[in-house]
Amino acid sequence: MAFPVKITVLGSGTSVGVPTIGCHCDVCTSTDPRDNRMRPSILIGYEGRNVLVDTTPDFRTQALRAKIERVDAILFTHAHADHLMGLDDVRPFNFRQKGRIPIYAAPPAMEAIRRSFQYVFEEVERATNVPKLDPHLIDGAPFDLFGLEFHPVPVLHGSAPIHGFRFGAAAYLTDHSEIPESSYALLQGLDVLFLDALRYKPHPTHSTVERSIKTVERLAPQRAYFTHICHDLGHERAESMLPQNIRLAYDGLEIEVA
Ligand SMILES: [Zn+2]
Ligand SMILES: [Zn+2]
Ligand SMILES: [Zn+2]
Repeated sequence: MAFPVKITVLGSGTSVGVPTIGCHCDVCTSTDPRDNRMRPSILIGYEGRNVLVDTTPDFRTQALRAKIERVDAILFTHAHADHLMGLDDVRPFNFRQKGRIPIYAAPPAMEAIRRSFQYVFEEVERATNVPKLDPHLIDGAPFDLFGLEFHPVPVLHGSAPIHGFRFGAAAYLTDHSEIPESSYALLQGLDVLFLDALRYKPHPTHSTVERSIKTVERLAPQRAYFTHICHDLGHERAESMLPQNIRLAYDGLEIEVA
């Protein structure tokens, strides 16, 4: 890449987060900060720009913690609540940047976003502030954002076709249970690969540790990070059982892409 790209993990947890409400298990009561996982999201920083992937219900806290001062575009992988419900909290970025924020989503996700945040898209004069967004549909073709090309990568999340994204030598594939054969071609020659690895036990809509290890073996990126992790995995112990080129992502992790 012609310029450095930094990925910040804003959240590495599954949909309910870790600790999970009401749970007293070893991981939910762990004092290791890496076992504290907010809902899944990354920030991609380059050339003074920030591209956000998903707006989780924890977005406000994540933005404060990571000291995010601007958001230049938002990509949505899909419109499940754990990836979407923080969208209203982008308003301070509208104020600071004095403009709309472009958002990118595939047609079914964009429809769900419009439904979930109906007030945002109503063309009415109002006395209160709502997020100011500029919607763009992802049609599968790569698109350029501020000099970096983003390739939507089709994956299956249960039976739902959703997207991960490749940008430069990095790819972020959160929620998925299957990577279609045709998507493997988009994932060659990676430096960094993020993969859903919910837990050890099978799940109908998510990848597991075992399955994602197989994906890493096949794609052979330089480094892989597992994310969207539930409380079945304690960071230290789970990571000690992984191959050296695979680590568990954790909230606050920053990675420079080669
Ligand atoms: Zn999710
Ligand atoms: Zn627990
Ligand atoms: Zn999901």
